[in-house]
Amino acid sequence: MTKAQFKKFTDYLIKNNQVIAPQYDVEEILHLNELNNSADLYLGTELPLDSWKFYMLPHDQKMFEYQGDKLKETLPKIDKQVFLGVSILDMQALTLLNQVYEKDAYYQDIKKKTIVIGTSLVPKDGFNKFFEVFEENKLEHLQFDIFLAVQKDNYKIFTGSNDGQRLLDKFSAKGGSTSGGGYKKYQHIEYAGPIREEGLDQRMVDIKDAMQNNHKDKIWQDLGKRCIECGKCTIACPVCFCFRMYDQADLDQDKGRRSRCWDSCFYNEFTQVAGVTPKSPKHRFMTKTAEKIYFWYEHHFVRTPESFSMPGCVGCGRCTRTCPADIDITQTIQDILKKKE
Ligand code: SF4
Ligand code: SF4
Repeated sequence: MTKAQFKKFTDYLIKNNQVIAPQYDVEEILHLNELNNSADLYLGTELPLDSWKFYMLPHDQKMFEYQGDKLKETLPKIDKQVFLGVSILDMQALTLLNQVYEKDAYYQDIKKKTIVIGTSLVPKDGFNKFFEVFEENKLEHLQFDIFLAVQKDNYKIFTGSNDGQRLLDKFSAKGGSTSGGGYKKYQHIEYAGPIREEGLDQRMVDIKDAMQNNHKDKIWQDLGKRCIECGKCTIACPVCFCFRMYDQADLDQDKGRRSRCWDSCFYNEFTQVAGVTPKSPKHRFMTKTAEKIYFWYEHHFVRTPESFSMPGCVGCGRCTRTCPADIDITQTIQDILKKKE
């Protein structure tokens, strides 16, 4: 697809859908926002500060309302949305969320209404990118609808779903880039699951092995002295997926609602458990900051790979960018690996 055709395609998407895309704000910070003008679209190697999970897994979500003994499920009210310009790193993050929330009706409802259009662009600096170099055989292990392999003067187009193919067909049929009959110059890729032919990601395996039984290591004590438990890394991370539930009852009637919102293992309530004894009115696991930060890394680098055979970190560096204590995940990973040598 030429760049001129791509502009028409973007205009077409904007006209017919809510399009979310990276754009610079007035302070020159790259954010995800609704795209109203194709000229504002940023397609480059920089990653937006916020991640796509904001739109796939809303921060605060009502799940059902009740009145007496009757429940009314409240699925999210969103129209068709298009994520345009998803870096291949963030595509990896969305693929993981798709596995984690595979049986979650609320997530799946939004997923059904979402078209993911990825790009081969990845940040030039940073650490530990599991997808440092774009190779076409990586695409069969990612879930997406349309993919733009960025070339010098144009985009090589791949589709990963029927929805993606239908969208390209309709675009042309409605006065898009070709003389009717749909935009057909794409290659279709069938999703083959998260594990590549050569086996599990070796870097993921190395870090996982290095973290075995190292929870008492000085690394965590040192980080525990610096971390202020703000939870920003969790909010920024495209693959942190924990949430908590809360109920709100109306006082005057027998009705109320249950909602869920993002949570962080750095917050005290995260590990608070029910059960009251005179000695322990509200018992909590993980009371020390060092324990919490270890738990956070263990979730990304041990438990997620064990549960989903995928890295629980895509190397986007958002946690480092947002940490007020300057805790750098690149450095931590290097320290963990060094200890193991
Ligand atoms: S680099 Fe940090 S923010 Fe990005 S995926 Fe890994 S843990 Fe999450
Ligand atoms: S952003 Fe930094 S200081 Fe805040 S909880 Fe995460 S590691 Fe700790």
